[in-house]
Amino acid sequence: MPRNEWADFIAAGGSECKACGQRMLKADGCTWTHVQCGSRYYRRIKYGDDGRAYDNGRCPDCGAKPGHYHHIGCDMELCPVCGRQLIGCGCDISHYVERPPARKRDK
Ligand SMILES: [Zn+2]
Ligand SMILES: [Zn+2]
Ligand SMILES: [Zn+2]
Repeated sequence: MPRNEWADFIAAGGSECKACGQRMLKADGCTWTHVQCGSRYYRRIKYGDDGRAYDNGRCPDCGAKPGHYHHIGCDMELCPVCGRQLIGCGCDISHYVERPPARKRDK
């Protein structure tokens, strides 16, 4: 990409998250809170909650602020199931979910 197109791209907020649809450099972080692994839902690990929060800056990969969720496909996100890098950790994570389905409550 030519340099000035790249600058325009950054000024526009960078790429769009495939889940929340926000521009990664304009949003505080992703609004999708869980991943599905098999039949269970796991709360995602926020940027900074893994002990790797850095200078209050945005995530170098997806632009999330500390205390907010990474955007989809971020290299820095850890798997909530095994604690390793989410991309390629080998868990059976089928997809991200905006929020887990409401549990049925017995009354
Ligand atoms: Zn997002
Ligand atoms: Zn990130
Ligand atoms: Zn995993």
